Amino acid sequence: MITIDGSEGEGGGQMVRNSCALSLVTAKPFRITDIRGKRSRPGLMRQHVTAVEAACAISGSECSGLTVGSSELTFRPGKVTPGEYHFAVGTAGSTGLVLQTVLMPLVLADGPSRLVLEGGTHNMMAPPFDFIERVFLPVINRMGPQVSARLLRHGFYPRGGGRIEVEIAPAPLRPIKCLDRGETLDVAGQALFTGLPFNVAQRMLARAAEGLPDWAQDAFALRQLPEDQGPGVILMLEARYAHTTEIVSGFGQLGVPAERLAKTASARMKGYLEAKAFAGPYLADQLILPFVLAGGGGFTTVKPSQHLLTAIDIAQRFTGKRISVAQQPEGEHLVTVA
Ligand code: ATP
Repeated sequence: MITIDGSEGEGGGQMVRNSCALSLVTAKPFRITDIRGKRSRPGLMRQHVTAVEAACAISGSECSGLTVGSSELTFRPGKVTPGEYHFAVGTAGSTGLVLQTVLMPLVLADGPSRLVLEGGTHNMMAPPFDFIERVFLPVINRMGPQVSARLLRHGFYPRGGGRIEVEIAPAPLRPIKCLDRGETLDVAGQALFTGLPFNVAQRMLARAAEGLPDWAQDAFALRQLPEDQGPGVILMLEARYAHTTEIVSGFGQLGVPAERLAKTASARMKGYLEAKAFAGPYLADQLILPFVLAGGGGFTTVKPSQHLLTAIDIAQRFTGKRISVAQQPEGEHLVTVA
């Protein structure tokens, strides 16, 4: 049994989700202690419980310690059964993080699946739907499987109520190399909002435009959603290249001025635009599972985050593969699976 200290490295929820996914694919049981040991409120939160429940539901796995607040979990993987599944994240927990848990096992299963996920679609500290659809899934689809996602309804924290559908046509994951971005295709800034004064989103967008002076004025747009999908606001800055796309998000938060959030997001997008790497920091940690399960290949990324290093550590423990990170002469980092 693999034993993981949940307070090591990043010490957050991603260790639990990645362990479940890897356990299902490798058929190795695991125990994780001191779950989310580096968080101010450690232990499993509702959304982590839902993610593990989803992993159990697609596989008949046995799990003990699966309650909100639990700091220890034992997971004995069953066989993944593809099919139709519906998962509702109780609060506005992220649908994207539940998807992160079950996607690789279903992508490698012996038949197609269709998922309906309900909860938050644009939550802080999680990939927004747009990121999953246009940044993450295109890389997976280049590796062989065909996965498409559709947003039926937006869900913001704290109300949730969002809904996405995901269709999965499985295939073995093929090792690929994602080293450069290719030519720039276009850039866009969008403030998506509902249930808030128009000028909050407007100020957000104006500050983002100020931080990205090379982007044309008409690259920025406001999009108001129906009232019943809110309240909420998110800024998404998107750069599309021939081989990759990056989306940097700024999530509206009570008490945080729209300008401050837009300033941070535009500075982060500027940093990405000035770098050469294929993957931004979030895509990088999310690519570790598919790349390690492909058994080879590599990608370049910006400065490695703690999330990335922890994802690598966990992936190596389940698969026995070696994953190296080496800085390149022009500053980007090359992540290689051997
Ligand atoms: P915790 O509360 O313990 O931090 P968590 O379960 O919310 O845990 P993390 O361990 O922080 O999650 O993992 C968050 C995941 O969401 C990571 O895979 C990260 O790449 C992704 N993510 C976070 N913010 C963004 C963003 N703005 N865009 C894309 N992906 C994101």
